[in-house]
Amino acid sequence: MSEAELVTVRNVDLSNCDREQIQFPAATLSHGFLLALREPEMTIVQAGENAPHFLGGTLDQVLGQRMERWFNDLLIRQVLERMIQNPQDGPAIHVNRTSFGGREFDVFAHRCSGSLILEFELREEMAGGRTLDLYAKVHAGIARLQRESTLQAFLDTAVKQIREFTGFDRVMAYQFLEDGSGAVRAEAVAEGFDPFLGLHYPPSDIPLPARRLFKMTWLRHQPDIGYKPVQIVPAINPITGHSLDLSYALLRSVSVMYSQYLKNMGTQSSMVMTLLKNGELWGLIACHHHRAPRHVHFETRTACEFLAHMVSLLLSAKDEQEGYEYRAKLQTTMSHMVSTAAVTNDLTKALVDQRPGLLDFVDAGGAALVLHGKPVLAGATPEAEQVQALVNWLGARGEPDLFATDFLSAVYAEAGEYPAIASGLLAIPIGGGKDDYILWFRPEFQRTVNWAGNPLKPVDISDDGQRLFPRASFAIWKELVRSKSKPWKTVEIEAARELRSSLLELAVRQAEKLQALYRDLQRSHAELDAFAYIASHDLKEPLRGIHNYSQFVLEDESDTLSKDAVEKIRTVVRLTRRMDQLLDNLLHYARMGRQGLEIGACDLNKLLSETLDTLATRIQESGAEVKVHGPLPEVHADCTRVGEVLLNLISNALKYNDKERKVVEIGCERGKEGTVFFVRDNGIGIAPEHQESIFSIFRRLHPQDRFGGGAGAGLTIARKILERHEGRIWVESIPGEGSTFRFTIGVK
Ligand code: ADP
Repeated sequence: MSEAELVTVRNVDLSNCDREQIQFPAATLSHGFLLALREPEMTIVQAGENAPHFLGGTLDQVLGQRMERWFNDLLIRQVLERMIQNPQDGPAIHVNRTSFGGREFDVFAHRCSGSLILEFELREEMAGGRTLDLYAKVHAGIARLQRESTLQAFLDTAVKQIREFTGFDRVMAYQFLEDGSGAVRAEAVAEGFDPFLGLHYPPSDIPLPARRLFKMTWLRHQPDIGYKPVQIVPAINPITGHSLDLSYALLRSVSVMYSQYLKNMGTQSSMVMTLLKNGELWGLIACHHHRAPRHVHFETRTACEFLAHMVSLLLSAKDEQEGYEYRAKLQTTMSHMVSTAAVTNDLTKALVDQRPGLLDFVDAGGAALVLHGKPVLAGATPEAEQVQALVNWLGARGEPDLFATDFLSAVYAEAGEYPAIASGLLAIPIGGGKDDYILWFRPEFQRTVNWAGNPLKPVDISDDGQRLFPRASFAIWKELVRSKSKPWKTVEIEAARELRSSLLELAVRQAEKLQALYRDLQRSHAELDAFAYIASHDLKEPLRGIHNYSQFVLEDESDTLSKDAVEKIRTVVRLTRRMDQLLDNLLHYARMGRQGLEIGACDLNKLLSETLDTLATRIQESGAEVKVHGPLPEVHADCTRVGEVLLNLISNALKYNDKERKVVEIGCERGKEGTVFFVRDNGIGIAPEHQESIFSIFRRLHPQDRFGGGAGAGLTIARKILERHEGRIWVESIPGEGSTFRFTIGVK
């Protein structure tokens, strides 16, 4: 980046470094030189303007020339061989050591975005860091790292080792935190320098493009922060038509902002290594030399890089080891909850009522199980309505599988009302609906963070107000952090996710079971219907035989039989009649389940007046007053069947009534389920405990001879008819005052 392109206060905010294209600086560091070549003829198409200084001649003589004009065959052959072995874009590869012009160079080659890039790094410059016994040192270093049992001890050892290798004044292990800021986790520092251990750095100190490059190259070294950038000539690569992509180049010039930042920290030389954990950028090992520029040779750098790789590999292992016990506890609690849920089929019981439950799972002050928008709370939680509002907000956000924050009020302002209870939230949706959730709340965790300088002012503005500089002050700036909870650990987030999928799996399994049960039920229902039909049909025949035979005996033999015997045979005849009636009902009921419906337009006014005609004599005899609240609508139904329902309900209303003035009312009203029909009487009523059982077959509440009752099948058949019409029937009744039977017809 040239100075002219420098971000100014007018065009940029603090994050503008995030947009800086630091991989295209069009310039290099000065402790060596760079050439960009066109393949396959190996013509030099770009060169650092310092190349002639080392190669001889002028820049014009260097550009456009083939490589063999300047280098010996051996080197060219080695470059070609290395590039054939590594055809892809990737980090610079050490080709060899060579000398020309009386100087020694390490030669590196790599390809990037269509260019072959050669870099010549001067060896003797500012040499620091001895390379003796490197192998033995690395070996011992790794053994020491492996022995450490905690992550902290391990990082402490790692920084100490690297300081021993390189002789830098300061080596730090720096961790990126979730909000993008960073903290110094371990430090080895020479005597006489202020420690940086524990200090926090704002996210803007290491902008996004730099982070991207950290993932691409393992080690970056800037021997002299005060270097003068060397321009690449021409600035535009003639092959690509763009500035040369130096993403992988060792000599890539660094951002002016960054150099200034390091200078402000009192650093003269730096080396930075990337630490990855499970493939993700975890942090850096940053080495600073304060007293003088310091050039670490390629071999020592390789050893350091090797150590950094080891640290990256062991990071996950150490962390896992430390989280092992907690993970085991989470697993046990989870299996307990899930297995209880599987047995009881009751989430509230399994997750809230029983221990261990939601509160014993991830470390939280309170938890809520929200089913159909209704929360069941445990521990310290916001009020039920606040939880409901929160769930609505989550539902509207539409997080697909998990939502976690340690700073809820930053995204959901209402949470500002209860920071002491829920500054942190971990939420998992557990159902198909938008309002089934499990939530964990974490209280506010007030703490002081020591920032290396004011994080709200990561840059200074020049006197003329035109330019931004990295801040000059790293004086400790204390921040009291409020409305934030302790962050959710990765193990906790993973465990919550796992709980979610276990519960969903359980729900699916239960739905499958239910479906299987339903299928079984349907089958046995059909079988029962068939059985009832056959049984009642076949039983009628012998019953008729018994009836007729008894009748004959009565007619022919009543003179010769004793009075007692005649009475007994009369009872047999009565019983067979009753039996016949029962069988008729059963047959009718069974047919109801088997026969198809003849659905059509059905005028209920007409149907009702026909029904009342049929019942005219009984109405008259009972002296009942029948009130119709009409007109009734036309419905889509099997008219004959609905007529049966009306007949049964009205005749019951007439029958089960011992009042002087009997009243039967028939009508309809609009309800939640559409039109609801009713048949109301002021009769004897039905006790609450019988209001459901009267719909079971052959269930009568009275002896048959009272109220002129029937067989007890009428309401069962009525229910079946209405269910087949996708409707339902129910009763509301007060004993002694009367009953109202209501029904719906669902068919559209
Ligand atoms: P039944 O043929 O005996 O009338 P139902 O199936 O129609 O058979 O009714 C079942 C039982 O419910 C009846 O025996 C009676 O005890 C009770 N019942 C039905 N309708 C009424 C009503 N309107 N008021 C009081 N009890 C009723």
